[in-house]
Amino acid sequence: MTVNLLDFDAEGLAAWFAGRGEKPFRARQVLRWMHRFGEDDFERMTDVAKILRASLASDAEIRGPIPVRDTVAADGTRKWLLDVGADNAVETVFIPEANRGTLCVSSQVGCALECAFCSTGRQGFNRNLTTAEIIGQLWHANRMLGAVKQPGVGDSGERMISNVVLMGMGEPLANYDNVVAALKLMLDDNAYGLSRRRVTVSTAGMVPAMDRLRDEVPVALAVSLHAPTDALRDKLVPLNRKYPLAELMAACRRYLEKAPRDFITFEYVLLADVNDSEADARALLALTRSVPCKFNLIPFNPFPDSGYRRPSAERVRRFQEILMNAEIVATVRKTRGDDIDAACGQLAGQVKDKSRRGVPSRLTFAPKRSAEVSW
Ligand code: SAH
Repeated sequence: MTVNLLDFDAEGLAAWFAGRGEKPFRARQVLRWMHRFGEDDFERMTDVAKILRASLASDAEIRGPIPVRDTVAADGTRKWLLDVGADNAVETVFIPEANRGTLCVSSQVGCALECAFCSTGRQGFNRNLTTAEIIGQLWHANRMLGAVKQPGVGDSGERMISNVVLMGMGEPLANYDNVVAALKLMLDDNAYGLSRRRVTVSTAGMVPAMDRLRDEVPVALAVSLHAPTDALRDKLVPLNRKYPLAELMAACRRYLEKAPRDFITFEYVLLADVNDSEADARALLALTRSVPCKFNLIPFNPFPDSGYRRPSAERVRRFQEILMNAEIVATVRKTRGDDIDAACGQLAGQVKDKSRRGVPSRLTFAPKRSAEVSW
C-alpha cells in the first residue's frame, strides 16, 4: 500500500526516510513542503534531489482529505465536511475573529461517550481518525484559506489560522496516539509552528490520558465539566462514572504543573432547568476552589429532538455573575456559525454507527441537514 506521508510526525518521517537510507534533513525538507507550503506534489519540491522526488512519487503520496461540502455562515464561520471513506464524513470549522483565526478540528468519526446533550454523541461511534485525517484538516483549511506560505518568504505575514482547538467531533484523548502525533506536527517549526498556548485539547475528562498528555505534549487544556455534582454529571457526561469529579479535579491540578497556561479552562454547557441555577453556580465554585481555572459558559446549542433547552439570556448572565463575583473569569461563548450547524455540539458529519448501541429510546434521532451529503 502506498504510504501517506501526512500520517507521520517529524520523528516518524525521519525514521521512514532513514529506513530508505535518506538523511534526516531530507525528511525535514519534505515535512516543510507538505505542511508549511501545503504541497502535495513531490515534483514541485524543487530543492529536493530529482532522483529522490521520483522515488518518493513511486512509493508514497501526500493525500489530504476529500472535501464533500464547504459552507460559509453569515458571520464568516466556514465549515468543511470531509469524506473519510465508507460513507463517513467529519466536520472541521474555521472561526475568524478580529485578532485571531481558530480552527476547530475533529478527532473521531462520531463519539462513544454519549454525553446527553451532544449531537455528535447521538450519532454513535464509528472509528478513530488517523493522524493524516486529523492533521489533514489543518492542512486542508490552510490551503483553502490561501494561508500556505510561499517557499523562501519569511514568517512575517499574519496567519489565518492562529489557534487550533480539538473541540470538533469525538473525544481527542480516546484517540490518544494519533492525536498526539497531530499535536506534535501543529507545534513543529517545520510544520505549523504553533505555540503550545495556541493549541487546545478539550476532553470530557479521561484522567489517565490527561496525565500522559501532561508528560508528552502539554498543550492548553479545556475540560468539559457541565455539572457541579457527581449525581448530575453521571447523567450528563456518563464518563463521570469512570472518572468522578474528585479524580478529575486532582488530574487538573497535576496537569497545571506542566501546562503552558496557568489555568484550566472549564467548559460548561448551560441547559435550562438542568444545571443553570444559582445554586449550581455556587456549587461549581466550591468544587473548583482548588483548581486555578477560567470558565467558558456555552449556552446550549439546540439540535432536533435534543430534549434540552437553552436558558434565557438573563439566566446565563446571572450564572456568569456569580462566578465573576468570586473573582473567577467566566466568558460566555459566542455562538458562531449556527445557521450552518457549525456551533458547539452541532457537528454531526456523517457517521455510520458501528457501536450498534442504537439510539436511546427516550429520544428519536432525526438526521440533520448537514448529514445529508451530496457526493
Ligand atoms: N469530547 C471533547 C471534545 C468536544 S468539544 C469534550 O467533551 O470536551 C465540544 C464542546 O461542546 C464540549 O464541551 C461539549 O460538551 C460541548 N457541547 C456538546 N454539545 C453541545 C451543545 N449541544 N451545545 C453546546 N455545547 C455543546
